Amino acid sequence: MRAYSLRFAARRARAQGLEAFGERSTSLPPQRWLIVRALLLLLSAVGAKGFAQDFRFPVRHEHGLRSCRGELSITAEGIEYRTVHVKHARRWAFEDIRIVVLASRREIVLHTYEAHWWALGRDRAFRFTTLSEIPAEVSAFLSARLRRPLATSFVAAEGALLHEIAVRHRHRFGGCQGTLRIYADRMVYESRDRPHDSRSWRWSDIQRVGRFGPYQLEIVTYEPEFGGPTRAYVFDLKTSMPDEVYDFVWERVYHMAPRRSEGNR
Ligand SMILES: [Zn+2]
Ligand SMILES: [Zn+2]
Repeated sequence: MRAYSLRFAARRARAQGLEAFGERSTSLPPQRWLIVRALLLLLSAVGAKGFAQDFRFPVRHEHGLRSCRGELSITAEGIEYRTVHVKHARRWAFEDIRIVVLASRREIVLHTYEAHWWALGRDRAFRFTTLSEIPAEVSAFLSARLRRPLATSFVAAEGALLHEIAVRHRHRFGGCQGTLRIYADRMVYESRDRPHDSRSWRWSDIQRVGRFGPYQLEIVTYEPEFGGPTRAYVFDLKTSMPDEVYDFVWERVYHMAPRRSEGNR
């Protein structure tokens, strides 16, 4: 929305600029002309940033007690880790990655199809800690590009909000407090006290959804979990979720018409 109005403003400013070059150039005071030029410069900078599709950042590759350092780059082609520790250097096409987890502002985990030779064929995960904060654009870029599942702790407020419920995310012991938000293209959990637990899921990032009465909702994701198949989020809803909202979510997750015969649960 903002980009659109900025572009619109740019067109108008450019039109004014052209006018200024023409016969009526004297009608635009020099001060205003300067403002127009500054605005145009600013817009071209915003535009260039908006189209950037190469993200590079220095990272630490974590392996147990040790780590190696290098550079991670994310482009339209895939993800690459460059390091002098050549055994760990990799280039993955997106299809080679089972799931990308942006676990926090400084953590990227790539679960790949590569098997661990020492862990009975368990899929190999590459854990990276970035030396500076990962820009939110990386999450937006992957959301738009990645066909494989994505689990991102970056939550954005773009798009029309369809429904919002205050919830508690259940942990094995206790839980964290936050808000569940439903948009047309995604579902978001924003944790107030544990940002690591915040997630934004596109519908295709959710494997299963279920509810046990009007005050509890379960989201089964594709995120691998230690000791379990995949990570499930169980939410206690502080206000009930209306049937039409649950039907909407269900329909999006399973790409089907809502089922109406759920009353026996
Ligand atoms: Zn390494
Ligand atoms: Zn939590």
